[in-house]
Amino acid sequence: MLAVRVVQDHGVYVEGLNFFTGFCVEGHTHAIRKKDKAKPQRNNTLWVAERLGIKLHFMDVVDDYRDIVLNPRYGYGANLNPCLDCKIFMVERALRWMNAHGFDFLITGEVLGQRPKSQRKDTLPIVQRDSGADDLLLRPLCAKHLPPTLPEREGWVDRQRMLDFSGRGRKPQIALAREYGFEDYAQPAGGCCFLTDPQYAEKLTDLWNSRGDRSYDLDDIMLLKVGRHIRPCPNFKVIIAREEGEGRYLQGYRKGYVSITTLSHGGPDALIDGAPTDEDIELAARLVARYGQGRNCSSVRVQIRSPSGSTRELDVLPMRPHEIPESWTLSKR
Ligand code: SF4
Repeated sequence: MLAVRVVQDHGVYVEGLNFFTGFCVEGHTHAIRKKDKAKPQRNNTLWVAERLGIKLHFMDVVDDYRDIVLNPRYGYGANLNPCLDCKIFMVERALRWMNAHGFDFLITGEVLGQRPKSQRKDTLPIVQRDSGADDLLLRPLCAKHLPPTLPEREGWVDRQRMLDFSGRGRKPQIALAREYGFEDYAQPAGGCCFLTDPQYAEKLTDLWNSRGDRSYDLDDIMLLKVGRHIRPCPNFKVIIAREEGEGRYLQGYRKGYVSITTLSHGGPDALIDGAPTDEDIELAARLVARYGQGRNCSSVRVQIRSPSGSTRELDVLPMRPHEIPESWTLSKR
């Protein structure tokens, strides 16, 4: 918001680009989980574009982004986040879009030293070089720390009015936001995608290990954001909703997975991912019963539904806590 407003103040016409990689945090989990209902159920990018009065273009890059996640030239950050490669990829895509649509230069909201991998003094130029954007990429919030770009040299924007923010603190940004009258904005914390989340990275690594290859599709990565993931055996895992909103979300995947619903007691919806045997399905049903209201009963009736829609019922003994080794649980929250 700040970077756009700084260049808009020069009379520059701006449009926005938003990249959908499938790993984005925004607009997904908040929309699913009831627990997060106090958070605004808005798409922050759309909301920001509306506040700024700019046109916004969504770019679905799920397929092309896969290679960035799987083979990052510059490696990963603390988890599975290929931040430097990701920035290069997005700026390169933005450059293509810019050229195709007759725009003159690119801006980002990057701040020198704000992120440990992709926003360092030595890595900001790599993004410019490897994306091909070179001096067409202006970072208005920290431009004074960086060599002048073409828009500054040509006087399209005034370098003196660019900013010199640096470091991880956000005080100057918050002060500038206040000056611009921005009272509400996305909280500036953590990474912008799930690849920076250690538990998510653990689940994605487990998925790859279980399949014996590092592939994924959109449903895989969306499901990793939802529910409790428990893997009793290498050939299957159980995804158990932690709340009603997640349960409804998992129901949407019934045609792709064996699903389990508790009938005799209140209980969570669940999916089985993998190739479970009948014995595995029974074990999964006992596990699901463990998380329902019948957890202390001697028998819980569950419905097993195949992806084709055929159903059968099973009476199972809910699993006792001591029967569930900690190593089965891939996500504890
Ligand atoms: S945190 Fe941001 S820069 Fe890093 S990989 Fe995710 S989307 Fe890309």
